[in-house]
Order: sequence, then C-alpha cells, then structure tokens
Amino acid sequence: MKKIGFILLLTSVFITSVLFAANPSKEIDNKCRQNLKALNSATKKMMEEKEYNMHPWVSLKQVGNIYTDFDKYIDVSKIVGPTPSCEYFMVYKDKNEYEWLCNLHGVMEGELITLKYHEYQLHGRINSKYKTNKEYEKHSKGMLMWTEYSLTPKEFFLYQYNTNPILTTVISIVLFVGSFLLLKSFFKF
Ligand SMILES: [Zn+2]
Repeated sequence: MKKIGFILLLTSVFITSVLFAANPSKEIDNKCRQNLKALNSATKKMMEEKEYNMHPWVSLKQVGNIYTDFDKYIDVSKIVGPTPSCEYFMVYKDKNEYEWLCNLHGVMEGELITLKYHEYQLHGRINSKYKTNKEYEKHSKGMLMWTEYSLTPKEFFLYQYNTNPILTTVISIVLFVGSFLLLKSFFKF
C-alpha cells in the first residue's frame, strides 16, 4: 500500500507542476505581438510627424534606409523575433491601411490560423485587405504552409504536450505503467 501512496503522490506533484508550467506557445505568440504593436505605434508617430513617399512593402532590415527618421521612434535593435522564422515587414496600402507583420505570425487583426511550428502550436492572422499586394500574398502562402507542416515524432510528442499538457502527461503515465506491468508479467520479475 505504501508503494501506491508514493506513486499517487508523485503523480499529483507531476500533474500540479504541469498545470502551473508556462505555456511556451502562448509566450511566443505574445512576444511577437508585442513587437508588432511597438513597430505599429512607432510608425504611426513617424507618419504623423513626417511625410514620406510610402513603399508598399518594406522589411525591418531596410526600414532605416527608406524612412530615415524611423530610428527616432523606436530602437530597432530591440525588436527581436521569438522564433528564427519571425521576420518583420511593413505592408502599406494607403494612409489608413498599413501595418507591420511577422513572416510567421502575420498581422495583428484578421482571419485566425493555427500553425504547426515544430513543437509549438502558434496562432497567426491573415488579412485579405492586403491581398492585392504581391509580396503580402507570397507571405500569406508561406504562413499557410505551416498549417500543414508534418511534425517529426519528437516534435509530435512535444506538440501534444505543449497543446494539452495534462492529457499528454496522463496518457504517457498510463502507457508507461501499462508497458511496465506487461513486461513484469511477461518476464515474471
Ligand atoms: Zn512572429
């Protein structure tokens, strides 16, 4: 009986720690959205104060060369994407329709899509109002590719865990205990 008590204790400690563990996918999404927010508000300020000949598509790497005052409004070196695929671009349609987007996460507002990004379930948004922009269309297609990404077995397990930690933990424990009991009865140890 002592053994069962110990196993129960261990299991409950494990499940509690899983419950309180941070959700890394959500953290990645939030970090990227914060970057987009910061870039959008800096751009808004810049455009209120200065008139530029706006380009339909500008990357964060080139922005300082095109809108020379941009670095007065934001420290671009602090805008670091939370994943290696997060790269930032600004799409411009007219003076009311422009914004920054992430290569992986897309824009702030629009149709929500679920991305299988390796072991993380991330969320991005695509907005059809920019679909006349060729670069934006290319970018949207690239984003949609992540909805069909095939995970490796390791990524699959971690993805399940990140998406549903409690269920994955319980299933893993059941499988582990089950195979232990099976081996035990088979080899009679
Ligand atoms: Zn991103």
